[in-house]
Parts: sequence; C-alpha cells; structure tokens
Amino acid sequence: MLPVKEAGTTIAVATQNACKACMPLGACLAYRGVEGAVPFLHGPQGCATYMRRFLIGHFREPMDIACSSFSEETAIFGGSADIHTGLDNVAKAYHPAMIGIATTCLAETIGEDMGLMLHQHAEKNADKASPLVVAASTPSYSGTHADGFHAATCALVNALAETDAAQAGRADVVCFPNMVSPADLRYLKEVLADFGLCHVLLPDYSETLDRPIAGEYERIPKGGVPISAIRGAGAARASVTLGSAFRPGQHPGAALLAKCGVPSLSVGLPVGIRGSDLLFQQLEDLAGKPTPEKHAAERGRLIDTYVDAHKYLYGKRAVVYGEEDLVTGIASFLDEIGVVPVVCASGGRSGGMAEALSATVSMQRGDIQVLEDADFVEIGEAAEAAKADLLIGNSRGFGLSRRLDIPLIRVGMPVHDRIGAQRIQLLGYRGAQALCDRIANAVIARDQERSEPGYMTM
Ligand code: SF4
Repeated sequence: MLPVKEAGTTIAVATQNACKACMPLGACLAYRGVEGAVPFLHGPQGCATYMRRFLIGHFREPMDIACSSFSEETAIFGGSADIHTGLDNVAKAYHPAMIGIATTCLAETIGEDMGLMLHQHAEKNADKASPLVVAASTPSYSGTHADGFHAATCALVNALAETDAAQAGRADVVCFPNMVSPADLRYLKEVLADFGLCHVLLPDYSETLDRPIAGEYERIPKGGVPISAIRGAGAARASVTLGSAFRPGQHPGAALLAKCGVPSLSVGLPVGIRGSDLLFQQLEDLAGKPTPEKHAAERGRLIDTYVDAHKYLYGKRAVVYGEEDLVTGIASFLDEIGVVPVVCASGGRSGGMAEALSATVSMQRGDIQVLEDADFVEIGEAAEAAKADLLIGNSRGFGLSRRLDIPLIRVGMPVHDRIGAQRIQLLGYRGAQALCDRIANAVIARDQERSEPGYMTM
C-alpha cells in the first residue's frame, strides 16, 4: 500500500486554505438533484450565503438554499421554533415536493435533536398536505463536501426507498454517480439508456444545475430524479455505486442493500480506460449484451489519442488534488497515459484513498506521495519538492500554479475562475478523451511558450 504522509514533522496547529468545502454544502448539492426539492439549512444565514455563493460561482445557475436563520437566542435555547417556522415558510413560498435538511456546525455543536423536532413538526401538521422532509446530519468539522453529498444521498435512500414499490416501474439499475458534473450525469444516463437499462440516477442535477435559459426565474428548477423513482429504487435489480471513499454509513449502495435488499455493485470513479472498462463490464453483465458500438468506438479513439499524446506526456510529473474519489480516478488515468501522479492530495480523510490508489496506480509507486486531510500549504510544499510539471485540480490551486509557473488543468469543485464547470467531462471513454486532450495541450502550450525558436509544430 502507498504510504500516507504522517500528520507532519512539525505540529499542525491550523488548516490554511483547506482542500475541501463544507459538509452541508455537498448535502445541498445532492438535494438539488431531487425533483421538486428545496435544500434547507438548519443553522445561521451566513452558512447559507456562503454555500449559495460557492455553488452559484461553480455552476453559474441560481441556487436557492432556505435556512432556519439561527439567532444568538437560538444558539443558547435551541432552534426548535426556528425550524417549525422555517419549514412552514418554505412550504408556503415554494410549494416543494420535498424539503432536504442539512445541519450546520452550530446546530450540531449545540446538539439539536432533528429527529424529535421533525416528529413534532409532522404531528403539528398532521391535518395538512405537507411536503416530505428528509434530513442528513452534516457537521462540517467531521467531514468534507463530498461526505455531505454521500450523507444526503444515503438519507434519501433511507427515508424513501421502498421494497414493495410498484413493480410496473421497476428499474433495472440504480446508479449512485458520486459528486460529478452535470455533463457527466447526462453521459451516464446516455450510457445506461444505450444498454437498454431502465435506470434511476440518484441524485440527478444534470438539468437543475445546467439548464437552458428560461424567460422567468424558476424558484424550483425543472429536472431532478422524481421522488417516485427514489421510492421505486428499493425494487431495483441492482445498484451500481461509483467511488470508493465512503465514510462508515455513507455508502449509498450499502444503504439500499441494508434497507431493501438490492444487490450492491461498486466501481471506482471511472476515469480512463481501466476504470471505464470495469463500469462497462458491469453494465454488460446487467444488460446481458455487449457494449454498444458507439461506446466501443469511443474506446478505440481514446487508445489512439493515448498513442498520439504519449510523446508529449510520458514521464511528466503531476500533482492531483480534490475529492478523494476524483483524485483516485484521475491518478489511475494518469498512470495509463505515462504521467506520474507524484502527489495525490485531498482534504478528505475517509482513510481509503491510499489503498484505492495502490489498487489502481501501478507505476513508480515510490515516487508517489499521498496526502490525506491536506491543505494547500502542504500541497504546495509537496508539489515544489516533487518538481511537478502540472497541477490537476480545482481553481483553488491557481495561486500555486502561478507561483510554481506550471499549468493548472481545472477539474472538480470549485471551478470559479473559468466558464463551463458544469460541462467538464471526466467519466467514461468520452471523459478521458476530453481530459487527455486538455492535459496534452496544456503541456504542449507550456513547452511552446518556453521554446526559444518558437516552434509552430511541436
Ligand atoms: S460554519 Fe460550518 S456549516 Fe457553516 S459555512 Fe462554516 S463550515 Fe459550513
């Protein structure tokens, strides 16, 4: 197994520029992938403003996040009154099908009993047609935005999936796609449909967070997985979960298996040929048919690109950072194209990244440094020491890219300083094709800038 860097040779006293965002933010993103849902924070308004700003900056779409608006009094006496008022107001203002609650640091620190409060709220409104309420516990000091995303996905499964859902609409497969871009979600749906598999994608914000311009502001955007489909997920033939970095109790396929007995299949985030082959193999088994020609051709073109790009990329040294599954998937892909992922870093601390990397990255392991629970000071030090040629990660690495004068290939969250984060594709043969082109072109552009003769052809 790859060695994980110890907590530091000096005593770490504070995180500086964390390589993660906050846990309820990821939960709000997952709730945005449910049709008719409104994300709701139990906590102070400042948290909601930060998360809205973060998500709007990344997706370039409006993002309403309701909030119980903690006051000083709430922090002392508890937020029971605030949550009742907040839920009533959201029900009146939005008429949602579902309200998805995520708890903030403060709510968790004062020990809010969400179960009791929601039970009281349901009793109080027993005679009304109220929206469904689903809640996830998301104290940010114990997890990242990715953990919040998984916690909310599991909360949806645990609250809604039913074993005896109507068999007529029974899905072949429930796909838990992980925290990927709307373009990747659309790609997954296309692949599942091409295999002829009746599917449920949970969550699905492919339309809600990358939508055509509308004449008028929609308070709840169209799209998302229907609640009836989540209920029906309990009767599916199998689930396929993308990713491996799940904290205990946060694996959505395992949650669906425990609640409804649906067999759970898992693959790592399918970036590159090896990862995509594993996914397509599972889909072939489920569908009982070979990979459709369209996707087989994309695989062939990708291998051709690997051959074309090899002379530019072989032996380059990359720093990869971001969500743990993203880092593992991209490191596996880099391994395929001859780039050494010299530093693999994440703010996450599921404890599984080093093991997952060991299983997927085959070459020059001695050169690879794995940083868990890392911040950008540590990543910068490691990148400098490793003499990295390029960075692959979110926009927060821009300062490091400028300081080290090496290119940054933007993936993951947030991508605040470029247009099109919603359409960054990574998954499958198609996503690897786009990523390979971007990395190779960044390397060529840098070599071209530094070439004295100013070659037009590299
Ligand atoms: S206080 Fe906690 S929940 Fe609120 S924005 Fe900060 S990290 Fe997120």
